[in-house]
Amino acid sequence: MRHATFLGEGRIEIGDVAWPVPAGGEVLLRVQACALCGSDLRPYKAGWPVTPGHEIVGTVDSPTHRLHGRRCLVYIPVWCGRCATCSGGDTHLCENVTELVGWQRAGGYAEGLAVPEQCLLPVPEDVPSHLAPLLLDTIGTAAHGVRLSQGLVPAGRALILGAGPIGLGALLVLQQLGYGPVAVFDPNAYRRQVAGELGAAALEAIPESGRYPLVLECSGRNAARQVALEQVAAHGVVIQLGESDTWEVKETKAIRRKDFYYVRSFYFPIADYELNLELLRADRARFERLVDARASLEGLEQLFAQFHRGERLKPQLNLMT
Ligand SMILES: [Zn+2]
Ligand SMILES: [Zn+2]
Repeated sequence: MRHATFLGEGRIEIGDVAWPVPAGGEVLLRVQACALCGSDLRPYKAGWPVTPGHEIVGTVDSPTHRLHGRRCLVYIPVWCGRCATCSGGDTHLCENVTELVGWQRAGGYAEGLAVPEQCLLPVPEDVPSHLAPLLLDTIGTAAHGVRLSQGLVPAGRALILGAGPIGLGALLVLQQLGYGPVAVFDPNAYRRQVAGELGAAALEAIPESGRYPLVLECSGRNAARQVALEQVAAHGVVIQLGESDTWEVKETKAIRRKDFYYVRSFYFPIADYELNLELLRADRARFERLVDARASLEGLEQLFAQFHRGERLKPQLNLMT
């Protein structure tokens, strides 16, 4: 099968490799689409020992399996289902996870991959394959973060820092969950324009004395973490969704003299999937706006270059054409 090797420094090589042979408890998934994620820029820059790609939808090709022929998404933590954390529903925090699909084991920038069966999320008929990956990091991670904050601050005014795929996904999730008005800051004009189209107040500069009861840090940038901690109102919540830069926050008076909550959302419990399907169904046309480019494996390197330059929102490898 064809697959991508991430060599580092923006080089992606497409080559042939034997089709994976699923182990016991695994199925073969034929990839239909795999969405690019900001976190993939790490393997893009540094190179990676396995094929990356973790926002995967495909068709199960394991004739004896009950899901054979079905379209499924891939839930990336290989959770055990037996530990206390899994039993409590927090499958994304499983105590026995040693592998994430697309990170420690081969992912979706390939024609196929072996997937542990507990990581298969069947995609309903009414959800097209190109939109299905949005149910993972874009909707799943954002909605989980907002749900974690719901007992701490009422739905209302919010500020989103970073209008990449996570930030714009968070915007649509917040709107669906009854929050507003939502302001979005991003230095990139294209992203600000889309945030505006999607109903946010797009800010070109950080408001000097702004105080928001809810701030979502979606850029992974140190500077934005600093702003988030300073902008949040007393008794408010900062939700950290982004990841990238090494932490280096400077303690300032605006941070020190304030009671506030800090919420980190890593992925989502597998049981949230049904709720997240409803979020997608309720606003399908606007989620569609985020999928602004598609490419074959041969076009993947160029697609990544555009994504890296901030010219694309949520592009995807698409093997369906
Ligand atoms: Zn991701
Ligand atoms: Zn577990």
